Amino acid sequence: MTDDAPTYYCANHPDVATNLRCNRCEKPICPKCAVLTPTGYRCKECVRGQQKQFETAQWYDYVIAILVAAGLAFFGSFLVRFLGFFTIFLAPILAIGIAEAVRFAVGRRRSKRLFQLATAAAVLGCVPLLLQSLLGIFFGGFNLGILWLGLYAVTLSTTIYYRLLGISIR
Ligand SMILES: [Zn+2]
Ligand SMILES: [Zn+2]
Repeated sequence: MTDDAPTYYCANHPDVATNLRCNRCEKPICPKCAVLTPTGYRCKECVRGQQKQFETAQWYDYVIAILVAAGLAFFGSFLVRFLGFFTIFLAPILAIGIAEAVRFAVGRRRSKRLFQLATAAAVLGCVPLLLQSLLGIFFGGFNLGILWLGLYAVTLSTTIYYRLLGISIR
């Protein structure tokens, strides 16, 4: 510790000297209590408060998001049956469409958990036809349908979450 640097004591650990301060509330914090954010060190309380601002989802949003994502993904999987090879091009569009529908249905409210659940629900929506295709292969022989359905499910799982998360979080 140099003489010119002021020494504070951590707000949570009074016996720990530190030169770090939260750059939002100016509270002295020790390295253990500091969280490195894109804008500098912050105390855990400030980081939590900030996250709350971003997490605006209500309990019913989870129900709505799951129903919309699973329902649309299920109907989309019927479409994939007809699309065949063109699933390669259209699955990302379907995924974006589902993400946008979820965003609209929950009134643009947001939370990471909400987006994760919506993505999981969308993948679950693909399961009925995937299972059906699997049974079809079991009893009838291989057809490419399951490949396109699988591609569709994977595309949904990788696209929806980031699509929902990507926009409007700063
Ligand atoms: Zn703070
Ligand atoms: Zn501390």
